[in-house]
Parts: sequence; structure tokens; C-alpha cells
Amino acid sequence: MEYRRLGSSGLKLSALSLGAWVTFGRQVDVAAAREMIACAWDHGINFFDNAEAYAFGEAERVMGAALKALQLPRDGYCVSSKAYFGAVEDPLPTQRGLSRKHLADACEQALRRLDVDYLDLYFCHRPDEDTPVAETVWTMDSLIRQGKVRYWGTSEWPAALIREAHAVAHAHHLHAPQMEQPQYNLLHRERVEVEYAPLYGELGLGTTIWSPLASGLLTGKYAHGVPADSRLGQPDYAWLRQAVLEEDGGARRARAARLLPLAAELGVSAAQFAIAWCLANPHVSTVILGASRKTQLEENLKALDVLPRMNAALLARVDAALR
Ligand code: NDP
Repeated sequence: MEYRRLGSSGLKLSALSLGAWVTFGRQVDVAAAREMIACAWDHGINFFDNAEAYAFGEAERVMGAALKALQLPRDGYCVSSKAYFGAVEDPLPTQRGLSRKHLADACEQALRRLDVDYLDLYFCHRPDEDTPVAETVWTMDSLIRQGKVRYWGTSEWPAALIREAHAVAHAHHLHAPQMEQPQYNLLHRERVEVEYAPLYGELGLGTTIWSPLASGLLTGKYAHGVPADSRLGQPDYAWLRQAVLEEDGGARRARAARLLPLAAELGVSAAQFAIAWCLANPHVSTVILGASRKTQLEENLKALDVLPRMNAALLARVDAALR
């Protein structure tokens, strides 16, 4: 495993990490989660990503139970949560957003569900236009000072708002957001490569990137339809199926298909190719893997072996194939 600093912080995260969205608490029960986390740990993964909203809190319960059963040393791994969407189906006004009220409640609840004393990483899952950014910054700083959180960050915030949060933190000597959690993959690049480009140097921003396989599209598994046991085959994920497969009139599908020969040329799977491509970006602190079963995780972990082959010439060919 390779370990990378989370931006300018001293925290070293494994370049590959494991997340719980859609999988834990739905496709993956405690026994399967235990097997997958054990496999991840054995391969050097030290960061496990979660959120209050994943399976309405069940993903955190499953991850907490699996971590407990494995008895991993608490000072050897990092676990995250995120607040904004709420942990219940129809949240009341105080049960969602980034107010002091919800962030404090959500943090306590995540600690209980994950069965840990502190969160290593705590994210504001989306921007909240109804809460002043200063209220959020002061609250996150206070959670750190109370020992409940180690590092705080944002997810899918515009660069201007991240800058604003830093300005508030700087003015009042508060902890500033250390990391962002944006979507980043071969088909979704703009924010990480262009919008955030000045922030890496200016603010020391780290990134924990999500959906490296565009929810599985970049594995090639959707080239000939939607397998019933896949993420996009799940009945209550029709909105995701629409977003991943049908937006742009199928252009994303076509672009994904153009990458398959490049992976085949290297003799690696499309998934390994796509993950290695994410790792090749030095501004990516960690690539959060998603997997509904252990065999996928084992396959995806081998992306680290593909990384040394992602040279400038190959990256240029990828860009040409996607144009
Ligand atoms: P991916 O884009 O990598 O999609 C993962 C899914 O693709 C798996 O669950 C599996 O679904 C399928 N898959 C994975 N590997 C293979 C393989 N080798 N062969 C075939 N199918 C495969 O990542 P996610 O979208 O899951 O994102 C990763 C993590 O990022 C999440 O778990 C979460 O922690 C975080 N995240 C954060 C968000 C945010 O807003 N901050 C938003 C979304 C995710 P299946 O088998 O069911 O088809």
C-alpha cells in the first residue's frame, strides 16, 4: 500500500480506502462487511468512509459492528462520517443541514452508531445555503476541540465557499476544512482538475475522492444491459441508473466503452485501469473504493500495481479517447 498525506496535514491515509454507500446495510451485512474490512486491512487500507445518510444510519451500524468484531487498533485506522442529509427518511427541519444543532446531534449519533469515541474525518456532506458558513466553521472547530473529531472537511462545496470557510477560520484562529470529498473519475473531472486547482497549493486541500468507477459504469459491466444483481439494477436506484446511463443521451456509456481497449492493451481489468487513473492524479489523497462483494475489492486493490504504468504517454491517449 502507498500512504499519502491528507493535503497539508500530517495525517497519512492509504491511497485506496473503502466506503459504505449503497453497499453496507443493504447489499452487505455485518458478516460480509467484516470479511471486506479484514481484506482491506490486510492490504494496508487504513480509512473507512461513511455518512449519516447511508442506509439511514444502518451503514454506520454495520461498519461499527464489523470494526468491533475485528478488534482493529483504534489508533491504526481512520473512520469518517458526514452530516447534511439527515439519518431518517423524512428529516424534520432540525434533523438535516449544517446548523450547530444538527452538526452536534449528528456527530453524537454517528459516534454511537459507529461505536467509536471520535471521528477521524467529519464532512459537511453538501453546502447548506440556509446556514451561515461561520456557524458551520465555529461548530466544526468546537467538535475538534471537544475531541470528537480530528479533521473536518467538505463534500461537493464550490471552491468559493471553501475559501470563505478558510477566511472565517483564519480570522478567528479556528480549524479550517482540511479536505474535500468530490466525485472524480474518468468521466467526471472538471471540479478536481480545474475548479479546485488553485486550492491545493493555497489552502493545502486534500481530497478523498468518490465513485472512481462511476458507480460501476467504468468496469464495462453495463455495456450490454443492466445485470439484476448490480447497483443500477436495484429498483430503488432508478434515479442513479438514469443519471449514470442515460444522461447525455448515452454519451457517457459510449465514452466509457472507448476506454476498454486501453485496459485490454495493458492486460488489466477496466476497473483496475479506471482506479489507477484516479491514483495518477497527485492531488488525490485517497481513492474511496466501493464494493458489494469481497472479490470486487480484491480485484480493485490490484489497481496499485497498474499505477506505475500510468505514464504521460498513456494519460494523453486516455484524454484523446475521451475527447
Ligand atoms: P464506485 O464508483 O467504485 O462504484 C462501486 C460499485 O461498483 C460497487 O458497489 C459495485 O456495485 C461496482 N463494482 C466495484 N468494483 C467492481 C468490479 N471490480 N467489477 C464489477 N463491479 C464492480 O464507487 P462508489 O460510488 O461506491 O463510491 C465509493 C465511496 O465513495 C462510497 O462507498 C462512499 O463512501 C463515497 N461516496 C461519497 C459521496 C459523497 O457525496 N461524498 C457520494 C458517493 C459515494 P454492484 O456490484 O452493486 O454493481
